[in-house]
Amino acid sequence: MASTLTAIFIALLVFVTATRVWLGRRHVSYIQSHRGQVPAAFNQSISLDEHQKAADYSSAKTRLVITEALAQAVLLAIFTIGGGLQWLDISWRGAIPEHEMLRGALVILSALVIGGLVDLPFEYYKSFVVDERFGFNKMTRAMFFTDLIKHSILGLAMGAPILFAALWLMQGAGDYWWFYLWAVWSVFNLLMLAIYPTFIAPLFNKFSPLTNESLKARIEALLIKCGFRSQGLFVMDGSIRSSHGNAYFTGFGSSKRVVFFDTLLDRLNTDEIEAVLAHELGHFKHKHVIKRIALMFLVSFIGLALLGWLKQQVWFYNGLGVTEASNYMSLLLFLLVSPVFLFLLRPLMASYSRKNEFEADEYAAKNADARHLVEALVKLYRDNASTLTPDPLHSAFYDSHPPASVRISRLARFSAGIS
Ligand SMILES: [Zn+2]
Repeated sequence: MASTLTAIFIALLVFVTATRVWLGRRHVSYIQSHRGQVPAAFNQSISLDEHQKAADYSSAKTRLVITEALAQAVLLAIFTIGGGLQWLDISWRGAIPEHEMLRGALVILSALVIGGLVDLPFEYYKSFVVDERFGFNKMTRAMFFTDLIKHSILGLAMGAPILFAALWLMQGAGDYWWFYLWAVWSVFNLLMLAIYPTFIAPLFNKFSPLTNESLKARIEALLIKCGFRSQGLFVMDGSIRSSHGNAYFTGFGSSKRVVFFDTLLDRLNTDEIEAVLAHELGHFKHKHVIKRIALMFLVSFIGLALLGWLKQQVWFYNGLGVTEASNYMSLLLFLLVSPVFLFLLRPLMASYSRKNEFEADEYAAKNADARHLVEALVKLYRDNASTLTPDPLHSAFYDSHPPASVRISRLARFSAGIS
């Protein structure tokens, strides 16, 4: 049984990594082969220079993702069949023979830190080489490392209690520990969503109330028209890190707020901002956020039930390179290995997400002007140097948003009144 799992795992890891590399390379060559000409639908609004910048930026990012996929696969292989986790386990067993929970927490923390260290050079390269070259990076090195320290402290402060709760339940809560853990995990996530806008996001960015009165009046009118109540309109200083623009809603229930990146407000006019906001309202009206949370609860329920069973199976440990079964090792193996299996669901999730985008666009077309949303999208694609010519297969597999051309031609139909 153990060797069967090893064989399946290796085959799947190779298959998933090869697929990631293959899709990435397809994407780059598709983009490069369309680099010479702006697609007809955009040749009024996007210059050849801008189109080529987007092609080169998207290619550079994709190449980085390919390299990172390879690094992650190598690390996972070293951790599991290469005996890395086994070595970590033995080392910590030597250091802390008693106190299984503390040892478990340290084994898991060590593995996560090593994983983080492998990802770090890629994040650094993305900001200071790729984004820098295309003029998007606004971060200083000091800020990059301050962010890293803040994220680590925050991760530890929030992760340690939930990790100890998990290990404690696995140890003492009987056969249905996984169900209790699922309940704790769900409550923890809801709590995070509730406190994120007011307590966590301000650790990284400044949020100030929107002061532009005419824009404020337009937005408030739209909110009333759509029957939406929020705890205020805020501007976030996104420009301190990057010149990419965005807008989002955050929080839920009564802590909902509308947040605009300062970079977005700088670039779009009032009509366009209204249309972008109407799109975001569409996500709320169609309950996309709540559905996403419900789906996450369902997935974690299935995952934890599965882990409840796997934890009892000796082959689960042995097949993934660990000789001694323990609560913490089952949790760690599951966290590290399940993404490989879940990768196969990626196209499904992406297509679901794109369907949500269409619904939000349709809502925006009804409650604002579709033409303004098109103008806003074109500006955002141009200013963020997003490619207009993604490889169709790469896009179908990964993209949470439909390609620009597809979205815009649908919106154009709405504004022509043929919806
Ligand atoms: Zn959207």
